[in-house]
Amino acid sequence: MTQTLRICHLYGNLMNTYGDLGNILVLDYYAKKVGIQTETEVISIGQDFDASRYDIVLFGGGQDFEQKIISKDLNDKKAALTEYIENGGVMLAICGGYQLLGHYYIGANGDKIPGIGALDHYTLSQDNNRFIGDIVIENREFNETYLGFENHNGRTFLGKDEKPLGYIKRGHGNNGDDGTEGCVYKNTFGSYFHGPILTHNGVLAKRLLSIAVSRRFPEFDLQQIADLPLEESRYQVDAAGVKRVQN
Ligand code: GLN
Repeated sequence: MTQTLRICHLYGNLMNTYGDLGNILVLDYYAKKVGIQTETEVISIGQDFDASRYDIVLFGGGQDFEQKIISKDLNDKKAALTEYIENGGVMLAICGGYQLLGHYYIGANGDKIPGIGALDHYTLSQDNNRFIGDIVIENREFNETYLGFENHNGRTFLGKDEKPLGYIKRGHGNNGDDGTEGCVYKNTFGSYFHGPILTHNGVLAKRLLSIAVSRRFPEFDLQQIADLPLEESRYQVDAAGVKRVQN
């Protein structure tokens, strides 16, 4: 029997900066390697989010413009999304999506864009500046290094139940100040990394996939996922940044 994971691309038609959709392609790629299929549905403005339907949710980044558009609708989905997160559903929220899972984001022009407060962070603006460039962080819990590309105005400050996804080795991260980047709360991961994040950090892709598979198919042998080779071994990170080392 075919085993299928259901993925929700939340506001996939509006929130997809720098090809954040690529994260879904990476999850599908690793899933197929172990014989699991994926089905992706875009849930956008005016559509219900069914918390029990999905195994993975991707909420991508967007410009302030799109964030304003979705903010009101997102409030209608607040209860269902909060239930999904609290129940330990797997979610990856990038940049603008990450910001709006928190309490609010003050946009570049000073407007306050409400989030849903499902996570306890808030995001301020900065004057005439954006955090742009390659970024490298260290996840101390797993002793892993993640790399990506950031481009954001917002400065995010984590709440008390959130752990950072990592600590900055290069770049700016959450706010340019406290050395943190992204967040982890239960099985929800927030990050400023584009790239998309999972293309460069297969170890994280495999973790998200493993959690989702273990929840949907408790009998599945997760070692099969752990044993998959990482695709981004073609890149190398050093003090000078990110280099491609193979074709
Ligand atoms: N508009 C937000 C900011 O500038 C998010 C940007 C993004 O998602 N790339 O901080």
